[in-house]
Amino acid sequence: MEPHPVDQLDLGAARVYAIPMRTRFRGITVREGVVLPGPAGWGEFCPFPEYDDAESAGWLATAVEQANGGWPAPLRDRVAVNVTVPAVDPGRAHRIVLDARCGTAKVKVADHPGSHAEDLDRVAAVRAALGPAGALRVDVNGRWDVPTTLARLPELDAAAGGLQYVEQPCASVPELAEVRRLQPVPVAADESIRRATDPARVALAGAADVAVLKCTPLGGVHRALRVAAGAGLPCVVSSALETGVGIAAQLALAGALPGLELACGLGTGSLLVGDLVAGPPRPVDGHLPVPRRAPTPDPASLDRFAQPDPARVRWWLNRLGRVAELVRRLPASPPDRRPTG
Ligand SMILES: [Mg+2]
Repeated sequence: MEPHPVDQLDLGAARVYAIPMRTRFRGITVREGVVLPGPAGWGEFCPFPEYDDAESAGWLATAVEQANGGWPAPLRDRVAVNVTVPAVDPGRAHRIVLDARCGTAKVKVADHPGSHAEDLDRVAAVRAALGPAGALRVDVNGRWDVPTTLARLPELDAAAGGLQYVEQPCASVPELAEVRRLQPVPVAADESIRRATDPARVALAGAADVAVLKCTPLGGVHRALRVAAGAGLPCVVSSALETGVGIAAQLALAGALPGLELACGLGTGSLLVGDLVAGPPRPVDGHLPVPRRAPTPDPASLDRFAQPDPARVRWWLNRLGRVAELVRRLPASPPDRRPTG
């Protein structure tokens, strides 16, 4: 019997990292995870700490696919990316957008209770930096109910001079459908897909205009392509705050999607103070290159960002071992069956 692809990973060579964030993002000030090598290169395992082992299995499956090789052939050499604006003050938001030189900006809103006035100022500052032709989207991370969405979204839309879409305004799919029915700003689904029990079966018909796909939690490029085909919506590939090792899988997905009209949320490397790869990809003219193979981390950077706390190292390696056991019991990713043409 063929060894399971997860057994091709060299768990003994796993390196636990801890990289400070430039700005608190998603409640995180230090990004932690593990990188480890396989026959075709390195992969990254970085589920957020609150995720249980079952939810973390997809994250490891993505690393397994990457470290064993076998991404589908890309259909494009580079992908447009948005600049991601965390919950920062307007001056900082303006500077971030100017520095990034991307044509699309994604702004975090609803970061904390009572944030609405700050959100309006931030969005207005981003529009000023972006210019009238830029696309501006906001991400609510499911924090509003429907009445709150209907009250706040028109004001954000006005402050933004027109929103491209609102990402996950509410937590549930029925709420997204209601928001979509009751107001004109297009709706994108993110957590509704990523955290679904079976992402390939999320019924988004009528509930969303855009599907946000994160290759890393979805279990790899091939699986994410099947989710995209099932969603039947325009897709945006979006980061899970990976280092330059893990972001490669996301870029491979963006490179392989049959249609890609919207800028992807993959320009997040600059949210970290440093990276594990030397010369990590940074957007040029608002685009990132699509990699052909898994990148190799830089030994000096692995040392520089090695997790200093032995208890955290043990926690991550134990988690990796448990989740590897789970993944071993899952069927290996079948060959790419996405339709051609
Ligand atoms: Mg999101």
